[in-house]
Amino acid sequence: MTVNVDILIHGGGLAGLACAAALRDSPWKVGLIEPQPQRGHEGQWDARVYAYTPAAVALLERLDVWPRLDPERWCAVDRMEVFGDAGGMLSFSAYEAGLSRLAVIAEQSLVRDALWEAVRRQRNLTLLTGEGKAGQALVSEEGTLTVVCRDGSRVRTRLLVGADGRQSWVRMQAGLPARVVPYHQQGIVANFAVQRPHRHVARQWFRDDGVLAFLPLPGERVSIVWSAPQPQAEALLALDEAAFARRVEAASGGILGAMTTITPRQAFPLSLLRCPQVVRPRVALIGDAAHGIHPLSGHGINLGFNDVAVLGEVLRALPPEADPGALPVLSRYARRRAEEPWLMQTATDALARLFALQPVPLRQLRNVGMRLVDRLPFVKEALVRYAAFGDFFVQENE
Ligand SMILES: Cc1cc2nc3c(=O)[nH]c(=O)nc-3n(C[C@H](O)[C@H](O)[C@H](O)COP(=O)(O)OP(=O)(O)OC[C@H]3O[C@@H](n4cnc5c(N)ncnc54)[C@H](O)[C@@H]3O)c2cc1C
Repeated sequence: MTVNVDILIHGGGLAGLACAAALRDSPWKVGLIEPQPQRGHEGQWDARVYAYTPAAVALLERLDVWPRLDPERWCAVDRMEVFGDAGGMLSFSAYEAGLSRLAVIAEQSLVRDALWEAVRRQRNLTLLTGEGKAGQALVSEEGTLTVVCRDGSRVRTRLLVGADGRQSWVRMQAGLPARVVPYHQQGIVANFAVQRPHRHVARQWFRDDGVLAFLPLPGERVSIVWSAPQPQAEALLALDEAAFARRVEAASGGILGAMTTITPRQAFPLSLLRCPQVVRPRVALIGDAAHGIHPLSGHGINLGFNDVAVLGEVLRALPPEADPGALPVLSRYARRRAEEPWLMQTATDALARLFALQPVPLRQLRNVGMRLVDRLPFVKEALVRYAAFGDFFVQENE
């Protein structure tokens, strides 16, 4: 049997689910393919914790997803402190930038569950989920593409949205090129109970053994991301839980007192992924299928949500008789998304590489640079605004 839709989203991670929700009020019949069953949050803490920018939160509010999150499970960030490896320090505050908060920290599974909840009863959406629901072959016919799933089912569409992550099957089938540059680092994540209050401050340390980030969680808890070069990552992963907690505590200068592990560690290999072309006739890429970034900027899914906001806007603006897969339509999306991912990737990549270099003069220089930027309130405000909204000039409530 063949299911016919106008827009088929391949991949139900945060970007794919948000894209489905963003098309709720469109005239299009939408389909979503996702092989992994919804895991369910079940009250356990999830070590995959992300910082969501004000723009991402605004999108989730518009999609009616944000109110579904348990307010006891997310935490606002009021201030961010960044420490160099030779006395440099840089801080950003929501108050100084005229924002109500810099970001919100929440578990990935919490947001994913809320997105599933929002799309489950969406009238124009057909959900195709389960093990066999993953693309296996792509058939191109006059004006349509047909995805043949592993279980033999077929979905015909006028637009195929690749939201299937870094190894995107859609990107490969569509022949859209991608350049992957490995960092030879692993991102180690875990959550901890801490002794002293974090006071809604996110912290980041650039160290010889990688970049350590503390993201505040509700109550006296933090989530960490330690982006460590491969040999150091292996050594950290070989430690038992208590020894690892002591290492994290020492690396942070004991700023939050004693730390106790509350989730097992997980590790992810880190790489930069750039796609010079994110559309072709009948295909558009969003989220990590379109761009991969080092986690030190905490921007991966935020770029994905900004893709969703723009693609949703472009598609919703079309008259019902228009073809959503036509190249001129998709080029509008690609043009509007050309700048932000490139700029974010370039700046984050430069930072990751700059702090990986060890010569003493360079170390001094980068720490002096941090202190200098810290004394330039206009520069800091511009940086905060771009990180929050993907734009230097936008105001919070626009
Ligand atoms: C250590 C670490 C820390 C991070 N911290 C942050 C942060 O603080 N803030 C932030 O914004 N980002 C952060 N990120 C980045 C973030 O994890 C990603 O940007 C985000 O998960 C991408 O979402 P996505 O929906 O595009 O892709 P994915 O999450 O990869 O989802 C892809 C979906 O497609 C499905 N899929 C895959 N293959 C197929 C197929 N063949 N057929 C059908 N479906 C398929 C998968 O099952 C999955 O559900 C971090 C990443 C790492 C590694």
